Amino acid sequence: MIKFLDLHKINERFRKEIDERIKNVLDSGWYILGEQNKLFERHFAEYIGVKHCISCANGLDALNLIIRGYDFKPGDEIIVPANTYIASILAISENGCVPVLVEPDIETYNIDPKKIEEKITSETKAVMLVHLYGQAVQTKSISEIAKKYNLKIIEDAAQAHGAIYDGKRTGNLGDAAGFSFYPGKNLGALGDGGCVTTNDEKLAKRIRAIANYGSDYKYHHIYKGINSRLDEIQAAILDVKLPFLDKDNKQRREIAKFYRQNIKNPEIILPETYDEDAHVWHIFAIRTKNRTKLQEYLENKGIQTNIHYPTPPHKQGAYKEWANQSYLVTEKIHNEIISIPISPVLEDKEAEYVVNVLNQYKG
Ligand SMILES: *Cc1c(COP(=O)(O)O)cnc(C)c1O
Repeated sequence: MIKFLDLHKINERFRKEIDERIKNVLDSGWYILGEQNKLFERHFAEYIGVKHCISCANGLDALNLIIRGYDFKPGDEIIVPANTYIASILAISENGCVPVLVEPDIETYNIDPKKIEEKITSETKAVMLVHLYGQAVQTKSISEIAKKYNLKIIEDAAQAHGAIYDGKRTGNLGDAAGFSFYPGKNLGALGDGGCVTTNDEKLAKRIRAIANYGSDYKYHHIYKGINSRLDEIQAAILDVKLPFLDKDNKQRREIAKFYRQNIKNPEIILPETYDEDAHVWHIFAIRTKNRTKLQEYLENKGIQTNIHYPTPPHKQGAYKEWANQSYLVTEKIHNEIISIPISPVLEDKEAEYVVNVLNQYKG
């Protein structure tokens, strides 16, 4: 069986260093907001190329903290892709703001920059960009729109640690970005984790306080904050893994290249990329007309797959108010998409087997 993602194998490579760093945390007697967080925040900010990194409990909180940090008010509109994981949208509605959905581009699966301007109203405060599957959004034209209408650009970079657009890493393409360190992400902890990256000092200060009970110093509360912190143990583990992120992403790119060059089947549409550096292949999603049939076929051949995602946010029970809306490109993608194995520990012979099995698929 070729696993969709072998997390044990991914982390086993770092066992010795992780064991040692966990032991150090245990020995230190300091488990929350300490030296490990400071160290990881500094290293991650350097890696992304930003001034500030604020660690927090998970990726959803990171986005939530950005929206709270900007002090957007209930009723403020935030533009967000219709084709995303629901967390991007939940972060907006959790704060009483209004998610305004925009269709993706069928080539990149990312938000279609040409469809943003028509959705802007006098209430629009921000555009949230999601670098879906690990591919950086082409932000140039969007930055111009944001400037023209005075909108903040928030990045949901939960799937795109290390991707590059126009010489800059995701997490440094807008005003503030949210990352997730959920175990399956390109940089994953052994539990939950997340962070915000930004060059905005004022925002960084606010977010750091809001994430810690709204407190700027101990028992002094200036905001109605939340508790969203990254454990010292998780910060230490992430600090062990960060130096290997580029190498891991390179490995993912090699596999993606191999798939893109060798999967040749008229029943299968391969993912597009406009620039090799832009993509870190968190997910390699192919499309086919009869998705269930292909998934069963692969399962029978011992290849685990996944679907990112089977139901679009506007068709979820959580957003009944959108039940009658249709986003045809988003729906088409959700109906046809299927994710095949890709990871830094997928072996050449496994990738070759995946290619052979896919090429034999009759549809
Ligand atoms: C994983 C993910 C999140 C949420 O991250 P958590 O750490 O699970 O809260 C948000 N947005 C996208 C696009 C994601 O893939």
